[in-house]
Amino acid sequence: MNEQHDVPRWSPAPLLYASAGLHLSAAAAVLMRPRVWPWALTAVVVNHAGLAAAGLLPRSRFLGPNWVTLPVSGGETADVAITVDDGPDPDVTPQVLSQLAEHRARATFFCVGARVERYPDLAREIVHRGHDIENHSQRHRHNFSLMGPRGLSAEISRAQDTILRVTGSRPRFFRAPAGLRNPFLDPVLARLQLRLASWTRRGFDTVSANSDAVYRRLASPLQSGDILLLHDGNAARSRRGAPVILEVLPRLLDTVAARELHTVTLRSALAR
Ligand SMILES: [Zn+2]
Repeated sequence: MNEQHDVPRWSPAPLLYASAGLHLSAAAAVLMRPRVWPWALTAVVVNHAGLAAAGLLPRSRFLGPNWVTLPVSGGETADVAITVDDGPDPDVTPQVLSQLAEHRARATFFCVGARVERYPDLAREIVHRGHDIENHSQRHRHNFSLMGPRGLSAEISRAQDTILRVTGSRPRFFRAPAGLRNPFLDPVLARLQLRLASWTRRGFDTVSANSDAVYRRLASPLQSGDILLLHDGNAARSRRGAPVILEVLPRLLDTVAARELHTVTLRSALAR
C-alpha cells in the first residue's frame, strides 16, 4: 500500500481544544474570584456532558476524524462499501463469502481479534478471497467507551497484532464496538496509524428479525459513497430462522448492481 496515505499526526479536534480552554478558564476564574465556583463547576459539568454525548453518536466528528461516507476526489464516484462486523463466525461467514463471490463483490470485515485467534483459517479465507479485515478491538468489550487511554490502546493494539499475525495483513481502519467512543480514542488511533470508520447507514441486523426492514434501512436510498453496516457475528435470526445478513445481502447486492454501483473496500478507497 502507498505509505503516503498514512494517517497524519494527531492534533486535537476543535471540541477538545475548546474543552481544554474552558477548563483552564474555569480554574483561573475560581482562583481570582472564589465565589464564582458554582458557575465554573456548572460550565465544566456541561462541557463533560457534551463530550460524553459526542462519544455516544457513532457518526459524529466532534472527537476527531471519522469516515461516515467514502471519500470523493475529483468527480463522481460510483462506489459503495459493504462492511461486516463482529466475526468471523464459523456458520455465517462462509455463507457471506459465497454470496459475495456470486455477486463478484468485495467487502470490509471488521473482525474481533479474539475471534480471529479462534478461527484463523476463516480469517485467512476472508483475505484470500480479496476482502479486507480491519480492527474491531480484541474482545469487543461492552464497556469499551468507558476505558482510559491504556485500556483502549491494549484492546486495539492486541487486535492489530492478532490480525497481522494470522492474516499477514495490517489493518488500516478501526471501528469502535457499538460505535461508542470517548476523547481518549483519537490519539490512540493516530499512534497506531488507524483511521476511525463508522457508517452511512446500518440495518440493525443484530436485533431485528425483519429482513425486509433491515434491507430497507440499508438501501433506501442507496447512494454512491455509502458505507453500509451488516453483521456476520451476533447476527439476529429472521422469522424463517436464517441469519438476517444472509437474507439481506443478496438483495442488497442486486440493488447495488441495478444502480450501476460497485463495491469497494475501505482500504481501496484510501488509494484515491
Ligand atoms: Zn461490533
